Amino acid sequence: MVIERAAVGGQAGTSPKIENYLGFPDGIGGAELAERAREQAVRFGAEILLHREGVRGEFPPGRRIGWLADGTKIVARACVCATGVDYNRLNLPNEERLLGAGVFYGAGASEASLCENAHLFIVGGGNSSGQAALFFARYAAKVTLVVRGDSLKSTLSAYLVDRLQAEPKIEVLYRTEITALHGDRVLSAITLRNTRTGKEWVAQTGWLFLCLGGVPHTEWAIDVGVSRDEQGYLVTGPDLLTAGRRPDGWPLDRDPYHMETNIPGVFAAGDVRHGSVKRCASAVGEGAMAVTSVHRYLSKG
Ligand SMILES: Cc1cc2nc3c(=O)[nH]c(=O)nc-3n(C[C@H](O)[C@H](O)[C@H](O)COP(=O)(O)OP(=O)(O)OC[C@H]3O[C@@H](n4cnc5c(N)ncnc54)[C@H](O)[C@@H]3O)c2cc1C
Repeated sequence: MVIERAAVGGQAGTSPKIENYLGFPDGIGGAELAERAREQAVRFGAEILLHREGVRGEFPPGRRIGWLADGTKIVARACVCATGVDYNRLNLPNEERLLGAGVFYGAGASEASLCENAHLFIVGGGNSSGQAALFFARYAAKVTLVVRGDSLKSTLSAYLVDRLQAEPKIEVLYRTEITALHGDRVLSAITLRNTRTGKEWVAQTGWLFLCLGGVPHTEWAIDVGVSRDEQGYLVTGPDLLTAGRRPDGWPLDRDPYHMETNIPGVFAAGDVRHGSVKRCASAVGEGAMAVTSVHRYLSKG
C-alpha cells in the first residue's frame, strides 16, 4: 500500500522536463513520468491511498503501525519511508517554471558533464555548494559561487575554503543575491545584486544550482527512536555502523540491511534518506533496493 498526501510523483511530478532519466533521451515531463509510474505500480498490484497523510508511527515487536491524519490505523510487517524533502527556494517569479530547465535544487554529479565548457552559478555558502563548485569546475569553463555573507569561513570547512581559493575556474561573489531569473522555455540569464552597494547586473547562463538546504520533515521519527542525522535525514544501512559496531539497541544478530533504519523492518529510500543523491533515477533505484531488503526481512527477519 502506498500512502500519498498530495499527488503521485512527488517533486518529480512538478518538473517541466526531466532530461536525465534513463530511457528518455529527449526528456519526459514530470507529470507524464508520474502517471506512467502510477499505472505501472497499479498493474503490479499496488494500492494507492491518495490525499492521505501519515502522521505517526508505532513499532511494537513484529508490527509496523502507521497512523494517518484522519485517524486510520495501518498495520504492516514492514514499511518504507519515502517522504522526500521540501527544498528552500529563492521565491522568485519564474522559479517554478524554470525548475529542471536550467534551475536545479541541489547540484548533482549527473548534471556536471552536461555543463561542459559552460559558465554556471551555484547559490549557497554551505559545504554542499562548496563541494559542488569543486566538482563542477572539472567540466565547466567557469563556476560562480553566489554567497549572501561576506565570508565562507563560518559556513564552510576550512579545507574546502582553501581548495576553492586554489581553483582558478571558481569565482566567489560575496554579499550577493539573485533577484531575477530570465528565460522563456529554459533559463537564459540571471540578475544579481550586491547587497552592500545595491549594484545590479545581468549574467548570461543556462545553469543555476540552488544549494539552499531543505527540510525532510521527519519529526515523527524522533518519537519512535528512528535515527536521524543533524539535518533530520533518516540514517540507514552501513551508515548506522560506528567502527563496525551496530547501533545501540539493535536487537538482531545481523547488520541492518541496505536502506534499513535502526528499527528492523523500517526502511527509508529517496531524498529523505541520509546521503541520498537527490535525483529521480537514484530515488527510484533506492526504492527498488528498499523493497529487496523488505523481502529479505520478511523471509529471514
Ligand atoms: C521542480 C523539480 C524539478 C526536478 N527535476 C529533476 C530532474 O530533472 N532530474 C532529476 O533527476 N531530479 C529532479 N528533481 C529531483 C527529484 O524530483 C527528486 O530527487 C525525487 O523526486 C525524489 O523522490 P522521492 O520519492 O525521494 O521524494 P519526493 O519526490 O519528494 O516524494 C515524496 C512524496 O511523499 C509525499 N509525502 C511527504 N510526507 C508525507 C506524509 N507524511 N504522508 C503522505 N505522503 C507524504 C509527498 O507529497 C511526495 O509526493 C527535481 C525536483 C524538483 C522539485
